[in-house]
Amino acid sequence: MSKRDFYEVLGVGRNASDDEIRKAYRKLARKYHPDVNKDTDAEQKFKEVKEAYEVLSDPQKKANYDRFGHADPTGGFGGGGGGAGFDADFGFGDIFDMFFGGGRRNNPNAPRQGADLEYRLQIEFKDAVYGKTVDVVIPRTETCDQCHGSGAKPGTKPETCSVCQGSGQTEVVQNTPFGRVVNRRICHACNGTGQLIREKCTNCSGQGQVKKKKKINVKIPAGIHEGAQLRVSGEGEPGVNGGPPGDLYITIYVKPHEFFTRDGDDLTCELPITFGQAALGDEVIVPTLNGRARLKVPAGTQTGTEFRLQGKGVPRLRGYGEGDLRVKVRVVTPTKLTEEQKEALRKFSRLCGEYINQEQSNNFFDKMKQAFRGE
Ligand SMILES: [Zn+2]
Ligand SMILES: [Zn+2]
Repeated sequence: MSKRDFYEVLGVGRNASDDEIRKAYRKLARKYHPDVNKDTDAEQKFKEVKEAYEVLSDPQKKANYDRFGHADPTGGFGGGGGGAGFDADFGFGDIFDMFFGGGRRNNPNAPRQGADLEYRLQIEFKDAVYGKTVDVVIPRTETCDQCHGSGAKPGTKPETCSVCQGSGQTEVVQNTPFGRVVNRRICHACNGTGQLIREKCTNCSGQGQVKKKKKINVKIPAGIHEGAQLRVSGEGEPGVNGGPPGDLYITIYVKPHEFFTRDGDDLTCELPITFGQAALGDEVIVPTLNGRARLKVPAGTQTGTEFRLQGKGVPRLRGYGEGDLRVKVRVVTPTKLTEEQKEALRKFSRLCGEYINQEQSNNFFDKMKQAFRGE
């Protein structure tokens, strides 16, 4: 099999910058890494990509390759062509370490944005509907105001770490079937900060940050939904090395209500009515979240019938107006009847006509039987 052009392997042009070459390599190495890609030719492709990158990322080898192509007289590459399989030491963790762990640590003293914080806030049902302003107390770290985040005793300064010369990382060179792999590790002497503190700030024990409880005023908009997140800009953890702070995300949990449930912007509730009210019709009082409303139940209302009270629902979070209050009627069968009531109901049954009931029943049961027989 003739060797493919290295630029072609990486899918970049001959004038590609170092950065473009590196990006193309990372993308392809991830794609073909045998821990990820189970295709039979993935391992071969991975080696091909690796070899191409080894050459094109090395200025000397790249110059030779550009001049001589694969016929490089110096024979400066081609290592690992034996197909000896994968070195057990060269695992997935290493390759990701190498690719993605190092970037941020390249300059440990570069400004970094603080972490985002999440706070879970449980609110009353009513407050979710009408909105409210509440104070929440957030435990978070803040920049130490004694040392202004340096961790060094006021009047002193952190020194550059002598182990890593301030880079915050040490390099471990490993030889693998694919060539030389440089693993970058966090410097243990300075914990990746690149700096050593001789005299620690007593207020923060050299951490540069202190734990504090911060009270934050949060405005909950009317009509907010369960699970919604409110972003409070700049109230997360402080930034490092002068970077901006993170954000605070407040996740809303709504306590259930005794009568009402939410369905989008609608409120729903169940209204028990008596058999008499359902049969004869009535005007009933319905509770709403901010008072009561009248509802006309027409004669002959069946259980499960839903009535809609327009605009008695939840204010729409986006847009104008309110949702509706949907009232589902449940006809309550009377229990604990007195003898007099029972007699009245018997009389009522007789008046309804026993034989009509019988006929309806027979019809009903015949239909059921047919349904079961599949007729
Ligand atoms: Zn301090
Ligand atoms: Zn160090």
